[in-house]
Amino acid sequence: MPIRKGGASVDLQQQPISALKGVGPRVAEKLAARGLATLQDLWLQLPRQYEDRTALTPIRLLQPGVAVQVEGRVEAVERGFRYRPMLRVALGDDSHGTLVLRFFHFRAAQVAQFQVGARVRCYGTPRPGQHGLEIVHPSYRMIDEAGDDALGTSLDPVYPAIEGLGPVSLRRLIGQALDRLPDEDALELLPRELRDGSNLPSLREALLTVHRPPQDADVAALLAGRHPAQRRLAIEELLAHHLSLRRQRIAQQAHAAPVLDRIALADTLRKRLPFALTGAQQRVFEQIRQDLAQPHPMLRLVQGDVGSGKTVVAALAAMCAVEAGRQAALMAPTELLAEQHLNNLRGWLEPLGIRVAWLAGKVTGKARAKVLEEVASGEAQVVVGTHALMQEGVAFHDLALAIVDEQHRFGVHQRLALRDKGSGGSGNGDAIVPHQLVMTATPIPRTLAMAAYADLDVSAIDELPPGRTPVQTVALSAERRPELVERIRKACAEGRQAYWVCTLIDDSDEVVAQAAQSTYEDLCKRLPEVRVGLVHGRMKAADKQATMRAFKDGEIGLLVATTVIEVGVDVPNASLMIIENAERLGLAQLHQLRGRVGRGSAASSCVLLYQAPLSQMARQRLETMRETNDGFVIAEKDLELRGPGELLGTRQTGLAQFRVADLARDADLLPQVHEMGEKLLHDSPELAERIVARWVGGAVRFASA
Ligand code: ADP
Ligand code: MG
Repeated sequence: MPIRKGGASVDLQQQPISALKGVGPRVAEKLAARGLATLQDLWLQLPRQYEDRTALTPIRLLQPGVAVQVEGRVEAVERGFRYRPMLRVALGDDSHGTLVLRFFHFRAAQVAQFQVGARVRCYGTPRPGQHGLEIVHPSYRMIDEAGDDALGTSLDPVYPAIEGLGPVSLRRLIGQALDRLPDEDALELLPRELRDGSNLPSLREALLTVHRPPQDADVAALLAGRHPAQRRLAIEELLAHHLSLRRQRIAQQAHAAPVLDRIALADTLRKRLPFALTGAQQRVFEQIRQDLAQPHPMLRLVQGDVGSGKTVVAALAAMCAVEAGRQAALMAPTELLAEQHLNNLRGWLEPLGIRVAWLAGKVTGKARAKVLEEVASGEAQVVVGTHALMQEGVAFHDLALAIVDEQHRFGVHQRLALRDKGSGGSGNGDAIVPHQLVMTATPIPRTLAMAAYADLDVSAIDELPPGRTPVQTVALSAERRPELVERIRKACAEGRQAYWVCTLIDDSDEVVAQAAQSTYEDLCKRLPEVRVGLVHGRMKAADKQATMRAFKDGEIGLLVATTVIEVGVDVPNASLMIIENAERLGLAQLHQLRGRVGRGSAASSCVLLYQAPLSQMARQRLETMRETNDGFVIAEKDLELRGPGELLGTRQTGLAQFRVADLARDADLLPQVHEMGEKLLHDSPELAERIVARWVGGAVRFASA
């Protein structure tokens, strides 16, 4: 019976590593520190790389940074003691190339081995040194004339290093664990019919291939992580993550949520707006409206490029809660942003007689008590604020819609914490939970969204309000800084405003603040007729906000800032953005910063000042910025250049912790993964459960669904 068989394999999988030979408490502890506790953990501990010892590379053909095996004869040996002990061994071969092996730690016996003329075979990564290419601390062995000089027959796996455990012992341990791999049927969790269609190897076969590549394995594919065995493992891992998110979603949707199906108030607001909604705004609001009319919670992510007008869509959604006699909350990551929302919402809603309350960290004492009271009594129909909204002691009367802006600044747990402020917010199973709307201006590629947000529905506001002229972007070498001063002078004389953003090689707040300070002083001197302001992370929050407000009100012409201004700030009159050391910033951040201009109707420009010489990567980033203003295109490029972990931030998802899968490389697997996931959830939920347990285990993203 398959069930019993499965049960037996579960036992074996869960067998503690200490059952293996040579694993005492000390080793077990070191492994446990890396999350390795069971045999299964060792099976899934996959090689990070392979060393190819099946061939020798002529020394003349060595390339810096490319690991290879070489063999040569010792041509010269030098011992030095200048700063610390050092041993240099020059090797030559028939290709007439020379390679230096360099050692900082060595024993006398080693020195004795390296006689001129001796044959040495070594493996390592050559780097440019003082005298041509060198390898520091290569792994090597001496080959005596009569001795064994056969080449390796397969790739050697290299495992992620584990502190206090040598690579050889680790390899041996994993080998022992692999010797105990159960037979195919006991190990396999993917049903046959799901595998057959796509010609996937069994899990057992895939694991053995990846850990112990057979002689005829496709070496290039393995090194690139694209071998069918690796793809098979990646599929199961992606599937596990997908299933765990879907499970969360299903659990969430099993809760009850208030039905918010009246839209007269939203209509009234829409008619009173000073502008017409864009097609994209209408479409997304329509999706939200349909979600809100359901008796289970909406879980929707709205992606919209900077300036696409997400706030008004949120306000319309809030009207559905208010019309139903309930409350909506809008949370933003910074006080400044929250305040901007407050002003927008008050401007739109107070004329309709709706009470909008404000709750931030700086609201204290009596004022705070009064707000808490209004929130608890339901008198406050819409509540805008920062993290302060989630604090203990904040109790809503009847929260029906929780809106979180600029979600990438919040962790998933925070998002849930706001949800838990819902009517029945005790966390018990039958609670009524609010609808959730998450908004982000960091567009992420579709594939990535599929993987990261399988628990959310995703909509995109993929159109900007009319009348915006695209921002012109140029990249300038830092030497041309003086020209910029003239541009700022001209823009300010015409009544426009400008940002000057300072970044630095050293990221410490303090150093960046100093740089911003001296740039500020310098620009004040050069532009006596312009009022210059300064904001950086080391200033008191109140001063920072006063300056930002003065900039918003047009009292300040030029704002010198660190990247603290990055997210969300809306000053339509600002039309010039200058970013110093732009080569240091990632695409997402550059795009966010540039999004601060081009919000009004005036033609805007963005100047990316860079420090030459540019790395290949930096050059590509700046080119991408010059070529497009489209956040989605930029996000795709970012994914390609940096990989998904960086893009999403590790705080946000568990995606960066994949063992095998790499979303940039394996994105094409996702449609298949989704299809499999739906089938499994439908046909064999107990298998789905076990796949999640195998790969995701206890590290489930949500504390409780
Ligand atoms: P974001 O999506 O970056 O949060 P905002 O909601 O701050 O964008 O909107 C940017 C600006 O565009 C605001 O000044 C807002 O009032 C304005 N806006 C929003 N929708 C429209 C529209 N349909 N037509 C014209 N202006 C709009
Ligand atoms: Mg916004």
